[in-house]
Amino acid sequence: MNKKSNQLGFETRAIHAGQTPDPLTGAIIAPVYTASTFVQDGIGENKGYLYSRPGNPTRLTLEVCLADLESAETAFAFPTGLSAAATVLELLEAGSRIVAHDDLYGGVYRLLADLRPKNSGHEVIFVDFADIDAVKAATTNDTAMLWFETPSNPLTKIVDIRNIAEIGQSTDALTVCDNTFSSPFCQRPLELGIDIVVHSATKFLNGHSDLLAGVAAVSPSAPDGMADRLRYLQNAVGAVLSPNDCAMLLRSLKTLPIRMERHCQNAMRIATYLSENKSSLGIEKVLYPGLGDHPGHKIASQQMNGYGAVISLLLTGGQERADKVLRHTQLFQFAVSLGGVESLIQHPASLTHATVPVERREAVGVTDNLVRLSVGIESCDDLISDIEQALRV
Ligand SMILES: *Cc1c(COP(=O)(O)O)cnc(C)c1O
Repeated sequence: MNKKSNQLGFETRAIHAGQTPDPLTGAIIAPVYTASTFVQDGIGENKGYLYSRPGNPTRLTLEVCLADLESAETAFAFPTGLSAAATVLELLEAGSRIVAHDDLYGGVYRLLADLRPKNSGHEVIFVDFADIDAVKAATTNDTAMLWFETPSNPLTKIVDIRNIAEIGQSTDALTVCDNTFSSPFCQRPLELGIDIVVHSATKFLNGHSDLLAGVAAVSPSAPDGMADRLRYLQNAVGAVLSPNDCAMLLRSLKTLPIRMERHCQNAMRIATYLSENKSSLGIEKVLYPGLGDHPGHKIASQQMNGYGAVISLLLTGGQERADKVLRHTQLFQFAVSLGGVESLIQHPASLTHATVPVERREAVGVTDNLVRLSVGIESCDDLISDIEQALRV
């Protein structure tokens, strides 16, 4: 390729970034190097690899592609999203102050609310990041990190990414955005001034519900040496993605743009349909950032390319009704996770957010009557008939 990679379109880069035919054989797809160790030429002389924890050629190919898609300086591939998050938290000294969004994936909440305060002495304050004044008020000059998701899980709250980046810059707090729900196709936080993006690549990036993986990607404008520190920490902690899983994820990335386009299109149609037929379908509220009445719609339109594929529904009739709906959908299968080509439905209060104490859950709005849809790329007409018949049972 003659053009600099970042001048090419996203769809082209998803297929080609970091990848050239194998010089030895002409193989068009990057070889999978499963070797744990690499033969050395002499002391201090090698071909760039020593041992597969500090560096593996298949992983590097994936990391170059991921960095390109997120407009990052460097990206790192982890075995899970949570290990990526946990390793990013290792950047902080003991006793650090963190300000975090009050609507986060349950596993990340557990790290921030329980593990790190206990084991690292961090002080973690949770505020609503959709309320910029609340974030400003909570962020003092000794705040080390700001951590958020947008759209958030499961309430689809929208955070103004540029504003959070500015608060981080003016207080010297490192900013971290979990971009799992959007993928770099819909949203690139590093381009808006955020320092580090993390992902559960288990979700949209892989998109086929057949592996666990995580990513941390560091902005070229993050504080000096940040990428090197994270590289050091990943090796020190030892959380690396296996070469076979790297190859699977590389393959998945090639169809990320086309999958995301259809995910977003289907979700928009379903959210609109459900919202227009709320009363007859027994729905109190449809939460989807693409809807004009969503409180974050305007900001989402400015910072996102497509509104993602997660829709939350507040049903009439409480948990009993939620259970009934979950049991009656057929295409929307009752399972946790999201971002796969197949549609899913789940119940956050009893599953993904069961780690969040009940008072806290109720206070932020993750109530018993909330069900979350992850809209897949099946025929949209089929999906609408399926959810409709389940809501009418
Ligand atoms: C699933 C998820 C995680 C955790 O990722 P794993 O790959 O399951 O470890 C983190 N953040 C968000 C937003 C998620 O949806």
